Amino acid sequence: MSSTPKSEEIQIGIIGGSGLYDFEALTDVRRVHTSTPYGDPSDSLVIGSLEGVRVAFIPRHGRNHQITPTNIPSRANIYALKSLGARAVVGVSAVGSLREDFAPGDLVIPDQIVDRSRGHRADTFFEGNTVVHVPFGEPFCGTIRPSLIEAARSRISANVHKTGTYCCIEGPQFSTRAESELYRAWGMDVIGMTALPEAKLAREAELCYTGIALVTDYDCWRAGHEDVSADEVAEVMKSNTAAAKETLLGLLKDFDVDTRCSCQYSLSTSIITPIDTLRSSVSRHDDWLVRKYVP
Ligand SMILES: [Zn+2]
Repeated sequence: MSSTPKSEEIQIGIIGGSGLYDFEALTDVRRVHTSTPYGDPSDSLVIGSLEGVRVAFIPRHGRNHQITPTNIPSRANIYALKSLGARAVVGVSAVGSLREDFAPGDLVIPDQIVDRSRGHRADTFFEGNTVVHVPFGEPFCGTIRPSLIEAARSRISANVHKTGTYCCIEGPQFSTRAESELYRAWGMDVIGMTALPEAKLAREAELCYTGIALVTDYDCWRAGHEDVSADEVAEVMKSNTAAAKETLLGLLKDFDVDTRCSCQYSLSTSIITPIDTLRSSVSRHDDWLVRKYVP
């Protein structure tokens, strides 16, 4: 890590998805170039203030959108945010809708994820000699989600859906119509390529993680949807991005991470390898997360 003064007191990381490459409302901004034991993050981090809260922002695909979903360095992104002091992360992403009543321009605060990625992504920090099974029944933070929903509903005019199951596919290709219909039949609500492994890694890093999913289109299941022009999609993405920024501003007003939230100590009952064994065998990669549990 490059050196960062402790006075930064960064509370929250924001990971921007398609359409959200910068955050011009940030004040007192500086850019931090950093590398991590997991390689470089998606881009340099932009540190600044929003509503008086110190925030670190990363564009998930790089600021010029040059990183495909499979290659997003999620471990480096989460490590960098945690190292800067963030205790919470909001991941913003563009998604397709799998249901009629989630229309383009709507905003979804997802509460569940189904993993349809294909195992090409490094999705754990614990790949050495430390076996950890973090709880993931509720993949998004139950403490911050209600605040995010409230912020969205009070600040933007678009429809806000307070629950939704996010189907995470590998990409980079979109689904076939048969796949899209299958996911609909399975009860999934939105489809995207980036919620995982980000949410899993945030849980392992004991960060409160929530998501804002911005509906850009109806995926491919809806007849006639192919007729939508690129200009129309671009217009939806523009208004979605504005809605996401407004929601984040609402969230950060009076924002504070609840240190009692279970996300903040997710490893406390999840490390399976005995502490005595860890003392002698903990690997360089695992150490930064488990050291506080190894007396
Ligand atoms: Zn939490």
